[in-house]
Amino acid sequence: MEGNKRWVSGNLQHPDRDPDRRQFVSQQQKPFGAILSCIDSRVPPELLFDTGLGDLYVLRTGGEAVGPVVTGSAEYGPLTSGTPLLMVLGHQHCGAVKAAYTSIRDGKPLSGNLQAITKALQPAYEQAARQGGADPVETMARAQVKLTATDLRANRDLAPLVKKGALAVVGAYYSLDTGKVEILTGAPS
Ligand SMILES: [Zn+2]
Repeated sequence: MEGNKRWVSGNLQHPDRDPDRRQFVSQQQKPFGAILSCIDSRVPPELLFDTGLGDLYVLRTGGEAVGPVVTGSAEYGPLTSGTPLLMVLGHQHCGAVKAAYTSIRDGKPLSGNLQAITKALQPAYEQAARQGGADPVETMARAQVKLTATDLRANRDLAPLVKKGALAVVGAYYSLDTGKVEILTGAPS
């Protein structure tokens, strides 16, 4: 979050991005966080948290959609190297969420494998439909973050780590307008 403050202000440090760091992490890594974010070209976690090499595991799928392969990848850091933070990061003006929203609302499946993303976002659509609100796509994007973070927190393998305080699963939301990351759920106390 300190790195995100630097990103918002433009006062960047670009840490861990030199040959020394490259050599230091070449034999082993110990990232302090794992982030599941969207594929959106405007939301690269390493940049918007002002981090460098070996700092983060990064997983990116359309609309932070998960399935077994993605969930396994999210589990990797916490289960194998004690990564203490797992963040699900949604964002403003998400094209994947918007496409899924429109597809479900109109009953028109997307073509080919894109439909798998729509299916993964169905629970967020339903929660947004129940919640209502002026901007249903925005509501759905936030619902997707919270539902995904909740699922990961309750996951059979991650839940014990959360319970003993070794892992925080945080849901967060990124504003394209301001560059600011807002914590929605799961902030460690
Ligand atoms: Zn997106």
